[in-house]
Amino acid sequence: MITSEELKNHIDDLRFQGLSFQEIGDRVNLSRERVRQINGAKSLHSYGLWFGNDVIRRCGIDHKHLKNAINLLGIVPYRETKAKILFNMADYIMLVNHFSVSKTCRMCGSPLPPKKWIYCSRECAIEGNKYKHRSPDQRKKHSEYVKNWQRQNPEKAKEINDRSNDKRRAKKQGQSVKDIIK
Ligand SMILES: [Zn+2]
Repeated sequence: MITSEELKNHIDDLRFQGLSFQEIGDRVNLSRERVRQINGAKSLHSYGLWFGNDVIRRCGIDHKHLKNAINLLGIVPYRETKAKILFNMADYIMLVNHFSVSKTCRMCGSPLPPKKWIYCSRECAIEGNKYKHRSPDQRKKHSEYVKNWQRQNPEKAKEINDRSNDKRRAKKQGQSVKDIIK
């Protein structure tokens, strides 16, 4: 027989591991409600643990954003089950900060409406993704990608090149015609 004090401590340990009252009840053969009573109905927050849903609610994001941020920040969840995902305090704060950093549109600088993360609107997103707004690093990557593609698809590349040369020539002639009219 274990004493009630030992049972209380055991439940406390399992709570600290992030188990729900139901999960603990299944392990110690007690009802969910009985475990909750013995534990004093302490929330997991009081053990320094936070749910993915806490981040989602607080930052107004969705599951997809949360998953992306976890990968991006290299966070290893404290505990993950099919139903929920738990973080320790430090990772929870890191996630909340991550979603609080940029609150203005990268393109026009206006405040971001709910559920928008980089650009305020479709128009700003299209403009912001244009080549002229890319960083030197992104440009370099892009030109390497293009060169690679051209090497692998020489015939298509020639076709595209010819077409753009034709366009350029037509534009030049069109402009020179205009110039003459002026
Ligand atoms: Zn904008």
